[in-house]
Amino acid sequence: MTPLKSRIIKHIKTAGALPLAEYMHWCMADAKDGYYANQTAIGSKGDFITAPEISQMFGEMIGIWAAETWDALGKPSPFNLVELGPGKGTLMHDLLRIGNAVPDFLVAAQIQMIETSDKLIKTQKQTLNEYDNITWHKSIQNIPAQPTILIANEFLDVLPIRQYIKTGNEWREHSISLDDNDALIWVLGAGVLEADSLPPNAMNEPDGAVFEISTIREAFIANTSNLLKENTGSAIFIDYGHGKTGFGDTVQAMRNHGFADILKEPGLADLTSHVDFDSLGKIAKETGLNIKPLQKQGEFLIKTGLLERAGQLGHQKSPEIQELLTQQAERLALPDEMGDLFKVFEFGTL
Ligand code: SAH
Repeated sequence: MTPLKSRIIKHIKTAGALPLAEYMHWCMADAKDGYYANQTAIGSKGDFITAPEISQMFGEMIGIWAAETWDALGKPSPFNLVELGPGKGTLMHDLLRIGNAVPDFLVAAQIQMIETSDKLIKTQKQTLNEYDNITWHKSIQNIPAQPTILIANEFLDVLPIRQYIKTGNEWREHSISLDDNDALIWVLGAGVLEADSLPPNAMNEPDGAVFEISTIREAFIANTSNLLKENTGSAIFIDYGHGKTGFGDTVQAMRNHGFADILKEPGLADLTSHVDFDSLGKIAKETGLNIKPLQKQGEFLIKTGLLERAGQLGHQKSPEIQELLTQQAERLALPDEMGDLFKVFEFGTL
């Protein structure tokens, strides 16, 4: 039994069934027993591997995007270079390698890292120890009011979501309770989703259909949008998900590079779900920002120069290194690898 599991059981016994979003919040973000406080999440020794950990070329392509965006914004100085959920700090490190080559970019950049995990803040400080213009924040609310370029990779998918299950004429909240042996089980909670929060065709769905919403993701997009609207700037969110709001259960637990049971070992497995970019795009649009058409990660990387960079890095290197670079580029960009599932969601004042 994980320490978090006994705390969750105690909570359910006193307060009743726990909605999925609250369960996910405990599992992922609890400061003492949560996943990001304790686990070696990212990398070949962790539970999953992210694009920046696959290849330096990923962060470098984001670096090219950031430098071009800064140029298009009129080279504001100073400006915020913000990253949400920077993991091990690898993406920022690779981005800054490109930024270093752009005159005045690094002088103008005030780097703002938004991270809740003390353990990962420590790792990020080690990765980025050659830079001194970096500030860490626990919340996006504390960023200085000035032009902003914001990046986030595989950040939205870790934020809690709510699930509602079609039951007769209602959509009831998917929640977690206990059986007679104190095992965690799925139940339908008391919460009901109002019709105006559902897509128009929701009542045609069969019983058991699942609808997901994430108020915390929406809040991050709303906060980002306000920051960009008030100060000018652009944001890029890269994550797996879909471009059209739909139905279906997308929550998954990952441990040791394989799927795990969501309820079995709270705090030990990584819980994520697919991002609904359709609903998030509407929020950014309502703020008055321009939304770029959603791109596939593969298309974005190739357009930005992935293959040219692979060629440059492999120039006059051994066949083994060249083969490794080819494999990395394929993993990031091929449609049946990360290329199609991962999307690039870009919006801002440009
Ligand atoms: N971007 C990194 C890491 C992705 S994992 C990469 O691509 O490798 C998700 C990251 O978001 C972790 O760093 C985690 O600690 C952080 N995180 C999770 N919830 C957060 C929140 N509410 N605010 C800020 N960071 C958060």
